[in-house]
Amino acid sequence: MDEHHRIVMVGGGNAGISLAARLLRKKVRDVAIIEPRSTHYFQPLFSHVGAGAAGMEEAQRPQAAVMPRRARWIQGAVSGIRPEEDAVILDDGRRIAYDQLVVCPGVQLDWQAVPGLRAAMDGVHGTSNYDAALVPATWELVRGLRRGTAVFTQPPGPAKCSGAAQKIAYMACDYWREQGVLEDIDVYMVVATPKVFGMPDVDAELERKIAEYGITLLPSSRLVSVDAAACRLRLEGPTGSREIAYDLLHVEPQQSAPDWLKATTLPADDDDAGFVEVDDATLRHRRYPNVWSLGDAAGTSNSKSGGALRKQTKVVDRNLRAALEGRMPPARYNGYSVCPFTLSRGTAFFAEFGPDLEPMPSYPWLRMAKERRWQWVVDRHVFPQIYWHLILKGRA
Ligand SMILES: Cc1cc2nc3c(=O)[nH]c(=O)nc-3n(C[C@H](O)[C@H](O)[C@H](O)COP(=O)(O)OP(=O)(O)OC[C@H]3O[C@@H](n4cnc5c(N)ncnc54)[C@H](O)[C@@H]3O)c2cc1C
Repeated sequence: MDEHHRIVMVGGGNAGISLAARLLRKKVRDVAIIEPRSTHYFQPLFSHVGAGAAGMEEAQRPQAAVMPRRARWIQGAVSGIRPEEDAVILDDGRRIAYDQLVVCPGVQLDWQAVPGLRAAMDGVHGTSNYDAALVPATWELVRGLRRGTAVFTQPPGPAKCSGAAQKIAYMACDYWREQGVLEDIDVYMVVATPKVFGMPDVDAELERKIAEYGITLLPSSRLVSVDAAACRLRLEGPTGSREIAYDLLHVEPQQSAPDWLKATTLPADDDDAGFVEVDDATLRHRRYPNVWSLGDAAGTSNSKSGGALRKQTKVVDRNLRAALEGRMPPARYNGYSVCPFTLSRGTAFFAEFGPDLEPMPSYPWLRMAKERRWQWVVDRHVFPQIYWHLILKGRA
């Protein structure tokens, strides 16, 4: 083995950094974080950057600046995990041994799931807020469109903050309306689900905005191919397949666990998406008791989001420390998730829900699905500060 650590984190994103910071604050020593990137992103702000409501520099920091001071940063990419040997393999051949392992490398964007999609993203009319390199192009495309057709797609299957596909659509429409060009743009929103979200109150509020902006909603539909050169895309829906010529295409790609993670023994046999098989409540691996997972890579039943992860971090923090002391895991995750729906470039509401889309409001006395100014201010201005100064420091 090249190195041994008491706790090894695979991934220094939202999950890895915030959990490591919490553990170190509680005096747990010898925590290593394996993370290949030199830049750390606060992805929720990508929606605002794509809508011209924030600059990309606000959504990123050097990775070195967010690494907890007492953590050992191993800059490299994991290519395999051998839980039987308590070892992690890096793509440069290094082997890192662990006592406890936390697997949190996020998701992989499966561009290849739709033929022609990668080429469309490389073209001048395609973009996605799911790819950090493309986010600035979203705003360029939105700003540049004066007439034509704009298509926003949300895929089937597990995805991080899946509603982000819609947020950019509403904010773009608000900008086009402000510019006086909305009536000259045909806007399509393609969602894989039968309803726009799946909770009656939330659907009603989103449908109100969809009608207000004149968006054509295509439910139970999905993108099946793109001809990037001709700027044409094909959809499949309840009435068969149809082709649309586009001037702007914003895509949320299908997502799954990274291929190298799928190839390990950590996912359940029946999980094609390859996420880490953990107990939904304790977030401990079902077969390897010294392996934990949280965030987007965890095979939990909640909707994947940073808000879900914030709750999970507190659970893994307590349970992992108990495991180090030989105790049973005392904390339970309740499946909470949240999607802040930005309905314009100045209003939003937070949909808070459980694994079966049951309401889980933080403020039960407040009508959840109601367009509000202050919730946009919280999402755009307050959350980024909480993220950089509290969550990543293990304080929230
Ligand atoms: C456009 C967009 C909008 C969003 N909006 C919201 C929102 O409004 N609210 C909300 O709650 N959530 C939102 N999210 C989701 C939120 O950002 C994620 O759920 C959260 O970042 C998950 O954290 P994570 O640590 O699991 O994954 P990530 O933060 O993605 O971190 C994974 C880390 O693992 C590293 N990694 C990858 N491969 C390897 C490897 N082989 N070896 C080692 N490390 C590796 C990566 O470099 C990365 O740093 C949004 C996401 C997007 C894309």
